Amino acid sequence: MAGWKVPGATPKGSLSGPSEVWPPWSEAYIGGVSGSDADDRELLLPPSALAHLRRAFRKEGSALGAVHAFHDAGFATGAAVFEQLSRRFGPEPSGSSETTFWREFTAFFRATGWGDLTHKRVHPGLAILRSNNWSESDPSSGDTQPGCAFTSGVLAHLLGRVAGGPIAVLEVGCRSKGDRECSFVFGSEGAIHDLYGLLLDGAPLETALQRM
Ligand SMILES: [Zn+2]
Repeated sequence: MAGWKVPGATPKGSLSGPSEVWPPWSEAYIGGVSGSDADDRELLLPPSALAHLRRAFRKEGSALGAVHAFHDAGFATGAAVFEQLSRRFGPEPSGSSETTFWREFTAFFRATGWGDLTHKRVHPGLAILRSNNWSESDPSSGDTQPGCAFTSGVLAHLLGRVAGGPIAVLEVGCRSKGDRECSFVFGSEGAIHDLYGLLLDGAPLETALQRM
């Protein structure tokens, strides 16, 4: 995938974040992806399916458990989404400029019903994908934390595949908790870990990025 540029493409060690707080750090980076992704059919579901699944998971378990489960399931599903992406734009988009890559990437997600995305680099090692209509979000949920864990897992898989190493994704704003947009920051695990620490300390996103 030479030519497809993703900020933070160089893995910098392993991430050892706290395991019992949001967000979860996917062990799929280490354990790999199981299950078959050879089936190239596509299943059309209403976006509310994910909201219903999330409510059901929370009811049967815990909110944190649901986040972990959705992130891991999203990461695993990312393998099949990557195949969809490759079929759509060709397996070897070498020579694609960064602008071309993000144009095709966002067009794919719009065409397949996930939602509209915009991409912006916000730091030498970090970029952000924003959406004001992301399908996984549920503005009626009244959540207090970002809720698009499945998407975060999918994006981590896709961007990691393109970058050739682990890419961490942190949703820093979400329509499910009343924000105008869902905002997914991504980069190396180290950079995202540092950003998450600053946000936990109460720094607004812009301030945290300036301190990075
Ligand atoms: Zn969201």
